[in-house]
Amino acid sequence: MVTGVFFHPEFKGKDWPVIGDKFAGFPEAFGSMLNDEKIAFFEPKEVSEELLLKVHTRELVEKLKKAWYCRGALLSVGGCLEAAEKILIGELENALVFVVAAGHHAGPSSAWGGTYVSCTGPTIAYLKETYGGRRRYAILDTDSHHGDGTRAIFMGQRDILHVCFCSQNLVEDEGTKVDVDAGWNTSDEDYLRLVEEEFVPRAKKFRPHIIMHKLGHDVCQGDYGDRGLTEKACVETVRIVADLADEMCDGRYLILTHGGSRRDLAEKIYPEAVRILAKIT
Ligand SMILES: [Zn+2]
Ligand SMILES: [Zn+2]
Repeated sequence: MVTGVFFHPEFKGKDWPVIGDKFAGFPEAFGSMLNDEKIAFFEPKEVSEELLLKVHTRELVEKLKKAWYCRGALLSVGGCLEAAEKILIGELENALVFVVAAGHHAGPSSAWGGTYVSCTGPTIAYLKETYGGRRRYAILDTDSHHGDGTRAIFMGQRDILHVCFCSQNLVEDEGTKVDVDAGWNTSDEDYLRLVEEEFVPRAKKFRPHIIMHKLGHDVCQGDYGDRGLTEKACVETVRIVADLADEMCDGRYLILTHGGSRRDLAEKIYPEAVRILAKIT
């Protein structure tokens, strides 16, 4: 099986809101993986407006269309959608999707914090409509901040497990929406233990068809959501979730890049994540 990487050349050379030009060194940062037969590179296409309107208000979409970062956002959601569909139909085992100007702070009618449209919202709405509504989806959010937009979109949908590592402990929506206080000045070991204790058993019980993971590195020392972690916490979280996906859902695992503005961290963590997905030792 093949690992997909969804990257568009327009994602580099621009000062994206909040994350800046952190993808300036891609795709070159993948090195020899660019020619590895276990990995397929895709240029994403823009998502349709019609799909965005499945989860967002017309007002939000019109506002996005006027912003300079609109194309980046549409390509990011398009990449998420295509990757998830290819995993669902068995063309890919897993994938890493690059994301700019889109993500977890985008709710149905409001968006902020560098993310102006939802990736997982339109994607899951499309998959449910196209392939039937029986599958369950797990979303893990290890960005430093609370995924308020994602939570608002999926609240009340009990076939979506949303486990978010942020700054509060909360369980709602009959146990399908969970926040875990990751603390500040946290060690890599403590953070990974929380992932093992708070996400793994919940996911096993929930039995999702696929795990979608918002992988931010703003949690790392010196980045803007610093929780005292190093890149090891991000990489090892991917290893834990990849093993879990292998055990639980035939390896179906989709990673979305999320917060963090340090280019050096992006260039370490995302290639390492792909190495884990493609089982390159
Ligand atoms: Zn963040
Ligand atoms: Zn949260």
